Amino acid sequence: KPMDGRISDLGPPHYEQFFPAVIKENKGKWLWHEITQPGVLMHKSETGAEVYTVRVGCARLVSVEYIREVCDIADKHCDGYLRFTTRNNIEFMVDSKDKVQPLLDTLATYGTKYPVGGTGAGVTNIVHTQGWVHCHTPATDASGVVKAVMDELFDYFTSMTLPAQVRIALACCLNMCGAVHASDIAILGIHRKPPMIDNKRITGVCELPLAIASCPLGAVKPAKAEIDGKEIKTVKVNVDRCMFCGNCYTMCPAMPLADPEGDGIAILVGGKVSNRISEPKFSKLVIPYLPNNTPRWPETVQAVKKILEAYAADAKKYERIGDWAERIGWERFFEKCDIPFTEKSIDDYRLAYDTWRTTTQFKY
Ligand code: SF4
Ligand code: SF4
Repeated sequence: KPMDGRISDLGPPHYEQFFPAVIKENKGKWLWHEITQPGVLMHKSETGAEVYTVRVGCARLVSVEYIREVCDIADKHCDGYLRFTTRNNIEFMVDSKDKVQPLLDTLATYGTKYPVGGTGAGVTNIVHTQGWVHCHTPATDASGVVKAVMDELFDYFTSMTLPAQVRIALACCLNMCGAVHASDIAILGIHRKPPMIDNKRITGVCELPLAIASCPLGAVKPAKAEIDGKEIKTVKVNVDRCMFCGNCYTMCPAMPLADPEGDGIAILVGGKVSNRISEPKFSKLVIPYLPNNTPRWPETVQAVKKILEAYAADAKKYERIGDWAERIGWERFFEKCDIPFTEKSIDDYRLAYDTWRTTTQFKY
């Protein structure tokens, strides 16, 4: 039955009905905020009202039992309100300081199940896609890699000991519905082989013009093949043009490009959306390929950890990873992170036969 005042029952209810009372009453009046301890934020309104937010790490895929438990905690401490952030953190909000410690005490009774943190100069949860669980073009899993990486970086989630915040993102293909293009450390699933063409299925499952039009590089062309003695219409791929993006596979299930040996992970660093210290930056490729070594992706975990620890040891306060790399020079960045330099590693690699110091801006 349509809800009152609404044309239909389609779409989510208006978000305002999910605001805690203190948020609703002070909408547009919040003046400033501070982090009172790792994982706890206090926002102050011009009315004098305060809201304390306790941020808790969460997985992106959770069970119904887990959500019920989270709701019970919210019922007990937050009048039933809670929110999930885009990084899959849970935020419990209370409207006075004296309600914070009882909430923290309840969370602590669950051990590390509800870790409090993810604020300020630390590593907050990894924004990520969903990988092998639901999409058709992933080159890696998302949740599995995120779990393996965050297990290793857990102490950086619950503390604020880094020079500045480190935003890590994972996208399981370069179509990137994750935020890897502008993250301090980006984990990106990559394909390295062109689509395979299944001529037996293609007539039944594909609209050929759609498959041809789907390629941003014009690499898919009409072709003919013989199946069971009959000539059929199909497509061929100009392999030299293909960038292994998987767009054609989106349109045509007979053009899969997932491949256990070809697929893997690339690491990019130095992106950010903040204007602080320097302008926003895109992430740069620093490791072109790591294997999909399931179930714990040790090469990827170690690469991320190495970059994070080199940054933690060397950067100045408030410097993001990209600011640090630019200050010390990318040559030093590669050295400090123990990453071999390859011709694929920076934008102007074409000139970098012996050195990648191709502009006067490089410092060494
Ligand atoms: Fe699908 Fe690519 Fe998004 Fe992963 S990043 S969920 S493969 S579109
Ligand atoms: Fe074109 Fe991408 Fe398909 Fe390659 S994978 S043929 S670039 S659409």
